[in-house]
Amino acid sequence: MKIIRSREELQAALAVLPRPLGFVPTMGYFHEGHLSLMRASRRENRSTVVSLYVNPLQFGPQEDLARYPRDAERDRLLAEREGVDLLFTPDDEEMYPSVGRIPGSLQRTRVQVEGLSSIWEGASRPGHFEGVATVVVKLFHLVQPDTAYFGQKDYQQALVIQTLVRDLALPVTIRVLPTVREADGLALSSRNAYLSPQERQAAPRLYQSLRLGEELIRQGERDPQAVIWQMESFLSKEPLCRLDYVTVVAPETLLVPAAIRLPVALLGAAWFGKARLIDNLIVR
Ligand code: AMP
Repeated sequence: MKIIRSREELQAALAVLPRPLGFVPTMGYFHEGHLSLMRASRRENRSTVVSLYVNPLQFGPQEDLARYPRDAERDRLLAEREGVDLLFTPDDEEMYPSVGRIPGSLQRTRVQVEGLSSIWEGASRPGHFEGVATVVVKLFHLVQPDTAYFGQKDYQQALVIQTLVRDLALPVTIRVLPTVREADGLALSSRNAYLSPQERQAAPRLYQSLRLGEELIRQGERDPQAVIWQMESFLSKEPLCRLDYVTVVAPETLLVPAAIRLPVALLGAAWFGKARLIDNLIVR
């Protein structure tokens, strides 16, 4: 596996890689969720490129950019073990060269996916999806993959990316793979590293609330507000959980329907101590 830090080296290495090329964009601190995407790419392509870049553009000023967990050496070993061909780990100057920058801003050009970017995660994290969309488009241009792999864990993110790829006619296929979970249901996340032992015990409640919502829908509940209320009330019983939102939405628009018609997506976000966790479930 080659470790690549600059755009120049990347272009040289890509030129000799057999196609088709699979690409897995990440922020590192790898867990089985990331590895499942690398494995899918390996299965479905002749070459695999993984990017590891903690993108400042997608973090708000009060968010966890500075303390986001990092372990470059372990990540290198894990990616190598998965048979990744290139690990692209640019620094900020490589991704956002300071030439021509407005002071205080990383770059002038931003990619905005209207509507989808401003609700739910976008409402709680203003500018987040603009940062994600911008860096992903940039990475697609640098890597030129045939297929790019994303996790369902970040459902709204995957939808934003599928939408921008369609809207901008980008020549890349997007594959979204299932959420990898711990045995107790907690979705794997780099941010789980922030959890204290007590918070770790409490954290599966987010997924349990989504399962409760699913159960109510399967039993015939068709009023989204009734489902949302039950999920909220279930989460409020956990003192270590500070709810951001749980909701029932149409999978493509992310709007709450007047009445539930399958499929629907159940989305949730909650704080457990310093960790803001998200999860989702599609009811088909
Ligand atoms: P991140 O490093 O958190 O930006 O995630 C990189 C990619 O891994 C994104 O496409 C995520 O959706 C995906 N991912 C993160 N956690 C999981 C998980 N538990 N299961 C599957 N994919 C995941």
